[in-house]
Amino acid sequence: METHLADFIRDTRAGREAEAILRTCVHCGFCTATCPTYQLLGDELDGPRGRIYLIKQMLETGAATEKTRLHLDRCLTCRSCETTCPSGVQYSRLLDIGREVVAGRVPRYGSDGLMRSLLKHFLPRPLLFNPALRVGQMLRPLLPAALKAKIPERRDPGRTPAPRHARRMIVLAGCVQPAMLPGINAAAARVFDRLGISLVEAERAGCCGALRLHLDDAAGACADARRNIDAWLPLLDAGFEAIVMTASGCGVQVRDYAHLLQDDPRYAVKAARIALATRDISEALIGEKAALLELLEKSALAARRRVAFHSSCTLQHGQQIRGVVEELLAAAGYALVPVSDAHLCCGSAGTYSVLQSEISTQLRDNKLRGLGVGGANGFVAPEVIASANIGCITHLQSGTALPVRHWIELLDEATAAPAC
Ligand code: SF4
Ligand code: SF4
Repeated sequence: METHLADFIRDTRAGREAEAILRTCVHCGFCTATCPTYQLLGDELDGPRGRIYLIKQMLETGAATEKTRLHLDRCLTCRSCETTCPSGVQYSRLLDIGREVVAGRVPRYGSDGLMRSLLKHFLPRPLLFNPALRVGQMLRPLLPAALKAKIPERRDPGRTPAPRHARRMIVLAGCVQPAMLPGINAAAARVFDRLGISLVEAERAGCCGALRLHLDDAAGACADARRNIDAWLPLLDAGFEAIVMTASGCGVQVRDYAHLLQDDPRYAVKAARIALATRDISEALIGEKAALLELLEKSALAARRRVAFHSSCTLQHGQQIRGVVEELLAAAGYALVPVSDAHLCCGSAGTYSVLQSEISTQLRDNKLRGLGVGGANGFVAPEVIASANIGCITHLQSGTALPVRHWIELLDEATAAPAC
């Protein structure tokens, strides 16, 4: 695609990157067919090709309107279009640049601006978020159904084993996950402990930065990244083997630290090292497959539960990890049921479910049908839904009575069951 960027951006790093990306797009429109918002809304400007045109136009003229912002806001950043694109267009990088330019030119006022500011300051701060969640959980039975659905019930996370093995890996606790679903990291620690690896959370680490980045706060996201790098590097130096992500949404962000901090002379090299050491938990576990199979042999599951696996977009599109979780669940004795439209987003997408709740709810309900809840997709119905990201788990759970779990919790059950 031929481009002539305007003076304000042409000679900047963002301008050069945007131009290189725009030049790879050949307008074929293949991406449009796999875009969830285009499928739902039927407007070219709510698909990747249309959004690329909007960004191109804005970077060439410097002009942006509320309409430009609306169509960019409606993008889930699910990156399904990147998986489909035959030309390798790095759409999400272009979108980040486009959103940053829009944010500088079309200020947000009223409830939209207020809500974004609230989310940005509230969610990544456990000192504010955790007590508020506790109050919400206590009042849950009295809350209206829509609000109640957004607050997960308190569940006993079970025991977290104390670090005891010579082999150690770092695990990210994240921002909202420890309060909302503490059972995920506890289950991960138990599974790895059984394999002779201790998972350790670094005390000073916190939110990965994805939340702030997607709320137009790139500087805040960089600050989050630097804090985590400072917390993790001494542990890597001390022999920790990897940084394990139990939320695929955090994984995709941490893997991008090298890009995020490329212009920071103090952190660029450190960020690249962190990105290289980062593993989704499925990758870390498949690396221990022989030991895992041995463990599973000793503790076979009594019943083959039927599982529908929803591969989060940050796993299958963002990190291009496919089939690994399915392989692990099958090895653990679970029966995976067929899933329709597995490439489509469930509508969670970080804070999207709050900011674009109507679209998000429609996508959730479509996803639950695709996962075969109640046999809705014509295949055998699942008994449990599994996913790889806290956002997808809580969002899907808000639309169904069927249990929705992180897949590592199912692996935990499988490896904990006594041999018969
Ligand atoms: S599939 Fe790729 S090359 Fe084709 S329009 Fe979409 S982004 Fe452009
Ligand atoms: S990231 Fe997802 S929602 Fe956004 S344009 Fe691409 S496919 Fe559509």
